[in-house]
Amino acid sequence: MRPIAQSKKLQHVRYDVRGPILVEAERLEAEGHKILKLNIGNTAPFGFEAPEGILADMTHHLPESQGYSDSRGIYSARTAVAQYYQSRGLTRTTIDDVYIGNGVSELIMMVLQAFIDNGDEILVPAPDYPLWTGAVTLCGGVPVHYRCDEDNGWNPDLEQLEAAITERTRALVLINPNNPTGAVYSEATVRGMVDIARRHDLVVMADEIYEKIVFDAAVHHHTASFADEDVLCLTFSGLSKAYRVCGYRAGWVMISGPKHLASNFLEGFTLLSNMRMCSNVPGQHAIQTALGGYQSINELIVPGGRFYEQSKLAARLLNELPGVSCVEPKGALYCFPRLDPAVYPIEDDEAFVIELLRAKKLLVTHGTGFNWPETDHFRLVTLPDAGVLTEAIGRIGDFLTTWRP
Ligand code: PLP
Repeated sequence: MRPIAQSKKLQHVRYDVRGPILVEAERLEAEGHKILKLNIGNTAPFGFEAPEGILADMTHHLPESQGYSDSRGIYSARTAVAQYYQSRGLTRTTIDDVYIGNGVSELIMMVLQAFIDNGDEILVPAPDYPLWTGAVTLCGGVPVHYRCDEDNGWNPDLEQLEAAITERTRALVLINPNNPTGAVYSEATVRGMVDIARRHDLVVMADEIYEKIVFDAAVHHHTASFADEDVLCLTFSGLSKAYRVCGYRAGWVMISGPKHLASNFLEGFTLLSNMRMCSNVPGQHAIQTALGGYQSINELIVPGGRFYEQSKLAARLLNELPGVSCVEPKGALYCFPRLDPAVYPIEDDEAFVIELLRAKKLLVTHGTGFNWPETDHFRLVTLPDAGVLTEAIGRIGDFLTTWRP
């Protein structure tokens, strides 16, 4: 047989969060080393458990979850999602606006496949959650990165964003609260982004998976609430983070705005939804219980709660390291610190992260893995408890004191 190559479609597709750095971590593990993996936002390994009601509901429904469901999702889950948005002020949301998927990840892929023609430009934040850039590329689109401004709490630079629009631009992606920066956008920023979309006839794709993980006075504003009836907005969210069940693969996309103008696109999206039959049915049964009733996430995001305390601790400890600065996250599960290039002249940040991994048995993700254009950042997951986080950041500090280019 001839050697079998990957498709050319994958040529520029990257997903570094689980890329070569993870391969190296697994190699070290195979040699018997214990690696502290702070490279992905996976809650379960850090002692976060799903709310009991979710487990009970899924278990109860297992016997009747054996068949395929409606490809858009089971009725109770879609109703619960629609009612959730109604209760958040999006009163016109109906069950027909909701599609359930195997996590936001699957829905991003399906939406972009149904939406993008070769050469279409899609505005994506830098830094971004790299699935967005990878999926746009895989679908034949061109990701055009708009820069988020570290000096302005990692808010997007709206002028630069608007200047990047061309006649090929078709959609604007925003991630709020943001992975990897932890920014939570102000109302003015979200409104401003929607206004840009309105002026330039762009579809808005709002990844709001961290919507319930916000700290202190930060308020999450649903993008769709400013899009009204004239801007098509696709809102993505799910159970992975706030309900600590990323393994159940339960997410959704909610479509709002001028749907009558999007009927052809939605027909294509439904076709793709049908072609993959349905999303994992037991996972869908978790959605109604999760969205109703007591919200245990609210305990985790206030003083004394683990998400809150760990985020604050990580930012504080990182800022104490010489030559390191970290904008304090207002939400989500990550810190995205900067290594001052005058102190740490890093040429290849992936190689830097691999050196840290080999020396300190600690895995973080390099900033360019999030399509950040410079080699001066990395992302740390703030999920470990205070003791482990302190140990991890201590190891980073030790490494930096001896590191030479
Ligand atoms: N969107 C963002 C911004 C994320 O950070 C993640 C996971 O880390 C996802 C989407 C994927 O979510 P899901 O587990 O629902 O596929």
